[in-house]
Amino acid sequence: MDENRLHCDHCPVRFNTVWERKEHEYDRHGIGEAVPHPFMTEHYRTVEPYVTALRMIREAIGELFGPLASLESPEATLLRKEGPTPTSEAEAVIAALQRVEEVMRAA
Ligand SMILES: [Zn+2]
Repeated sequence: MDENRLHCDHCPVRFNTVWERKEHEYDRHGIGEAVPHPFMTEHYRTVEPYVTALRMIREAIGELFGPLASLESPEATLLRKEGPTPTSEAEAVIAALQRVEEVMRAA
């Protein structure tokens, strides 16, 4: 079973985030466990300033290099079941810098 699927296996419903699916499955079908919204957790409140700082770097890279960096959209990180994390933001920045480096090396 795909842990990251965005549909319910028990009724014809689709979701925008894994979190929404898990909430639905728990509320409607009693499957799994109550999952706090990623943005409502104590953990998220702790890491939010770091997420914000890394998001600023991500946006600066987007402005400096534009399509060269082809950054993962901030929305894409919302699809991650844990929400945006400092690690997911850092990974997006590193991947973008690697794409810029590849383009520069090929030039
Ligand atoms: Zn369902």
